[in-house]
Amino acid sequence: MQKDTEHIALWRELAAQTQREHDREAARLQAQLGELRQELEDRPEKHIVTYIDADELATARDEKTRAFTARLRAFQTLAEILALHRERTSGHCQCGAPFADCKVAQILYGNDTFTRWIDDQVSRLQLYRDCDLPGNFPARFDPRWRR
Ligand SMILES: [Zn+2]
Repeated sequence: MQKDTEHIALWRELAAQTQREHDREAARLQAQLGELRQELEDRPEKHIVTYIDADELATARDEKTRAFTARLRAFQTLAEILALHRERTSGHCQCGAPFADCKVAQILYGNDTFTRWIDDQVSRLQLYRDCDLPGNFPARFDPRWRR
């Protein structure tokens, strides 16, 4: 009987020890899992995504700048053409044709975006602000210039 009691105690101790080892291993694995989850969270992919986003942003900015520059060049060229096709007090276009018949003037004056840009640039020039009018644009030499 004594032997059985010792035997049972040994088995209990062994079972308890096994349980403690199991608990320790489970805790270790749980901690490792937590570390791996954290590592996954902190992975460089996040940074790579950030860089990709930054690259896309820089590309979009470059495209916007290029589009803006291209539009500016086009408007500056149109401004030079406008300087040659303006309505004079005589009702004629600068080119000599009756203003209403000058197809170039009709195209230029029919473009609201361009005429707003010209008006804005001339206003800026007359307020001594930076403007994007071409260097040879008549408003640069005539402070009373109106389109
Ligand atoms: Zn004309």
